[in-house]
Amino acid sequence: KADEKLGESDLGQEQEGLIVTHYGTQVMVEDAATREAKRCHFRSNLGGLVTGDKVIWRDGNPFGVVVARIDRATSLMRPDPYGDMKAVAANIDRIAIVVAPYPEPHFNLIDRYLVAAEAIGIEPALVINKVDLIDDQQRDKVANIQALYTSLGYTVILASATQDHGLEPLRDYLSHFTSVFVGQSGVGKSSLVNALLPKANIRVGELSERQTGTHTTTNATLYDIPSGGRLIDSPGIREFGLWHVEPEDVLAGFKEFRPFMGGCKFRDCSHSHEPGCAILQALDDGKITEGRLDGYRRILADMHPNR
Ligand code: GDP
Ligand code: ZN
Repeated sequence: KADEKLGESDLGQEQEGLIVTHYGTQVMVEDAATREAKRCHFRSNLGGLVTGDKVIWRDGNPFGVVVARIDRATSLMRPDPYGDMKAVAANIDRIAIVVAPYPEPHFNLIDRYLVAAEAIGIEPALVINKVDLIDDQQRDKVANIQALYTSLGYTVILASATQDHGLEPLRDYLSHFTSVFVGQSGVGKSSLVNALLPKANIRVGELSERQTGTHTTTNATLYDIPSGGRLIDSPGIREFGLWHVEPEDVLAGFKEFRPFMGGCKFRDCSHSHEPGCAILQALDDGKITEGRLDGYRRILADMHPNR
């Protein structure tokens, strides 16, 4: 349809762009060279476009046209209402998993987020927010979380969105990359996003309001962080969980288990009781922890409730 409305001669030359948000049949494209945003139609043969997609587009009046999508380096997937996996955001480099002393953090939930991130090939970091609320009841737990995930090689950042604490290390971690925040409701993701993106800088939101008269908060939107880097954010992305992880990806998602993968005597080893199990041997040798092995088992058990 886009092609019918616009004669090819009315269109500018091909240039690179970035999808910054989506409105049903149209997208907002930011030109790679000028950084200016333009509303565009897109050709139906592109297989769908999502926020974060890099594209080739041509300017036009009143709308431009996206003519090609550059292959995605990574994609966040979630099932649509029919159960088919669909991308919701593309080309994300970093995932900040947010936890807090309250609501109480659970190692298993953290492991789930880590596994999901590892499965799409993104090195996640852990942000422990609301450090101002750490009390005697949660002090040890928070210290244990920090110690465990640091020892596994993950970046762990202590922050307080409301007390303006730890935001510098967080800004450093996010700079030069495209990131998302994920985590349980109430841990302070929105507060962190607001602390990083002063209202005046939410240029995409302003644009969409001006051009459509409505402000859409539900679609994933890509923001520039003033201190560097970009953030893709939406309520749906914040709830990103274990959606697209296949059972065979779970073991590899526990990154300290990787050296022992394939070392078990039995190919279909469940790593629970078998003789010659390399994972159980690693546990005996103190190379992995009981807690992480338990986390692995729980994730698998939730994927196969009947086994
Ligand atoms: P989200 O559901 O993860 O987006 O969490 P919100 O950002 O909505 O925060 C949930 C509640 O925690 C709100 O009442 C925030 O004001 C509060 N909150 C967020 N960050 C902090 C923090 O660092 N310290 C304290 N004390 N409260 C915070
Ligand atoms: Zn085994």
